[in-house]
Amino acid sequence: MARVVLQCSICGNEIDPHSEKLHKLDPCGLYFVTNILEEEADKRFEQAFYCHYGCFKGILASPESLNLEEQEEG
Ligand SMILES: [Zn+2]
Repeated sequence: MARVVLQCSICGNEIDPHSEKLHKLDPCGLYFVTNILEEEADKRFEQAFYCHYGCFKGILASPESLNLEEQEEG
């Protein structure tokens, strides 16, 4: 069976989903949308990226705005 390798789009390192070093919310996906204010859907383009939770938080101008760590299940 082929091994799927996830690469963090920010730091470039592999995201091993089985690593005990990962943040509890890893692996993460970024959903990037161009022309976000465009009303016509065919003028917006979307692409998904993998990333570490900590890497994404680290590039935010206001890291405190990422508050998903407090989200509870259920
Ligand atoms: Zn990373």
